[in-house]
This record gives sequence, C-alpha cells and structure tokens, in this order.
Amino acid sequence: MKVLVLGAGQLARMMALEALPLNIDVEAFDVRSDQIIHPLSQQVLGEGLQQALREADVVTAEFEHIPLSVLEPCQQSGKFFPGSTAILAGGDRRREKALLQQAEVSTAAFCLVKNRADFDAAITSLGLPLVLKSALEGYDGKGQWRIKSPEQADDVWADIAQFLKQSSKKINQGIVAEQFIPFDYEVSLVGARANDGQVKWYPLTENHHVNGVLSVSLARAQHPLQAKAEQMFNAIAEQLNYVGVLAIEFFVVGDTLLVNEIAPRVHNSGHWTQQGSDSSQFANHIRAVCGLPLGETNLQRPTLMVNILGIDQLPENLLAIPELHLHWYGKTARPGRKMGHINLSAEAPAQLKQRFAQLIKLLPAEHFPELETMLPRIA
Ligand code: ATP
Ligand code: MG
Ligand code: MG
Repeated sequence: MKVLVLGAGQLARMMALEALPLNIDVEAFDVRSDQIIHPLSQQVLGEGLQQALREADVVTAEFEHIPLSVLEPCQQSGKFFPGSTAILAGGDRRREKALLQQAEVSTAAFCLVKNRADFDAAITSLGLPLVLKSALEGYDGKGQWRIKSPEQADDVWADIAQFLKQSSKKINQGIVAEQFIPFDYEVSLVGARANDGQVKWYPLTENHHVNGVLSVSLARAQHPLQAKAEQMFNAIAEQLNYVGVLAIEFFVVGDTLLVNEIAPRVHNSGHWTQQGSDSSQFANHIRAVCGLPLGETNLQRPTLMVNILGIDQLPENLLAIPELHLHWYGKTARPGRKMGHINLSAEAPAQLKQRFAQLIKLLPAEHFPELETMLPRIA
C-alpha cells in the first residue's frame, strides 16, 4: 500500500515513521517543486503530480494551502482523503466560517472585508478590539492585524490595503474581521474519523502560543469541556463527511467553547500523542485514510510537548531527563522555523511538573520564552 502526502515537511515525515511498521509506504509530493520525495531519506523519487497520483493507492495532505491545480486532480483520482472540500475549508477562512455556521458551532462574530467601507462597517457592527486575518495563506499568526481603538483605523487599514494590493494579484485574497475574544486559555481537540464514520478523539490539549506560534501543548485528562468539544467536532466532521485526522482549535471562555479554526490534517498540538497515547495522531491518520480500524486514543500518561523554533542545536543532556523524547525534523535552521519538538511524559502530574521544571532549566532561555507560565497549568 502506498500513501501520497501533499506537502513534504515534518508532518509527512512523522506519518511515514508511523506507516513503516504497518508496511505502508509514504511518499511526499512537494507542491512547490513538483517533486516526489521520500519523507525519510529525502531522496527525490520522481517528478510531476500525474506520476505521483498514478503510483499511489491513497492521497492525503499535510497542509491546507494547496493550489486548486493540485487539489482538483487529486479529488478526481477518487483516492483523496479527507478530500478537497475539507482542505479548502481549512485553507480559506471565508469557507471555514461558512462551514462553522452550517455545522451550527459557535465561533467569534465576524465580517468579510474587501475594502475600506467594509472595514469601517466591521468596526461599527462588531465593535473593538478586532482581529483581522487574511482569508488565504495564514499560518503561525502570519497575515493578521489587530485594532484596539478607532484612532488606529487609518494605520491598520493602510497595512491591510498594501497587503491586499500585493497578494490579490495572484490569488482571490480577502480579509476576515473577527471580534477579539478575551479567552481564558486555548485548547484543541484532535480526533480521527474512519471511513465507516467511527470517531475517536484524543483528550483536549491546552495550547500556549508565543507571538502567534504554538510553544507548549499539554494533554488534559478529563477536561470538563471534553464532551462539548467532541459534539462540535462531530458536527464539523459530519458536514465534511470527513475521513482522517481533524484538529479543531478552541477558545475557552468560562464554561463555553468557541471554535477559532480547524486544521484538516494532523496538527502540531497533537504531537504529544506520539508518547502520551497508544496510537499517535500520525498512526491514526494513516489508519483512517487507508480504511483500517482506528487505534486507541486514551491518555496513557501525563504528557506535554515543547516546540523547538529556529535553533539547530540543543544541550545533549536533555535526553538524560526520564521519559523525554526528542523529535528532530532535520531541516535547515531559519529564525522561528519549526525544527523539532520535545515530548515529555511522567507517571503523574506532579512528576511531570518536576520534570518540566528540570527541562526549562536546561533550555536556552532566550529561545524558549514564557515556558514557566505553563508550569502552574500542570495539575
Ligand atoms: P495556526 O498556526 O494555528 O494555523 P493561524 O495563523 O491560522 O495559526 P489563528 O489560529 O487564527 O492563526 O490565530 C493565532 C492566535 O492568535 C490564536 O491561537 C490566538 O491566540 C490568537 N487569536 C486568533 N484569533 C483571535 C480572536 N478572535 N480573539 C483573540 N485572540 C485570537
Ligand atoms: Mg491556522
Ligand atoms: Mg491557529
């Protein structure tokens, strides 16, 4: 069996690692270079989407910003899961908001903005503060603007207008303006849906971002909003007749959940499942898209994940911390780039807290800001 992944980054690589013991081969299609790449050896195996599609039994994706010229032939092949509708909904915030409305799940109030008049109308109807997001190509907090007071309107609009002028030449760009949500904290739900409609969810994960990029994820056993999150997951997954792993990011406000966004793929906030659960999100994604039964998703032991951004070396003695696992992606370092992650587990929360404190001390503080703020969250 051969699975073709659209995108040749670390997510394809981690899928390949989990597919190996199942005797499933994973190849990656780099949509930028048009090359077929082996995600483990990085060897170039061939060129062109047509060849890649011919050779694959199943097609899936590791990211959502994929041009239609690639999505359409994949969809036509009849082998593509979760399929182009789901990928497009994850890649275009206008479609995403429409999907959330159809699924009748709560999300931040929003308006679509194409010009200054829409922008002013959004400020009037939604109120301030607002978060404005590019409809297309946004990730890691890129392509976002904030406005807190009416005096900032001219400056913020000048930035957005400049952005629209540049990007709309190539693509049908637009802006989604949404109410700023003063959330208590953020969680995500990662789940897998099989082709017979069976669904398994991992426990909710608490996520801490720094400068719009995920820094730490902490698996939360028996979170009071788990059942609510699962209901919202089902409503969205059923709308899409989804097959594969789906991640949903939420804002927690008191005892309510608002959906921030969805990711129609394995997700950074699910990396802890490699050590904290019986079947990881990567294993379950491969199982789901290949039509196999899903593996268990229970939290087996308290686990958290720390992202490694922009640096190409870590102190070796990190590995001396018990139940610490390093996942290194083998990429060339660039400032802020996701280079790898650390999964840390323990028998009980108190031990995890102690090990996390030990880890924080060993990490270069300038590259790992704000980690301490997660310490009190472990309970
Ligand atoms: P990702 O890398 O997760 O795909 P992204 O670029 O798609 O990120 P979002 O998840 O939409 O961006 O936003 C990034 C972060 O900004 C959120 O995790 C949250 O902390 C904050 N944020 C986004 N929208 C809002 C909002 N409406 N109110 C308050 N904070 C927000
Ligand atoms: Mg996103
Ligand atoms: Mg996000």
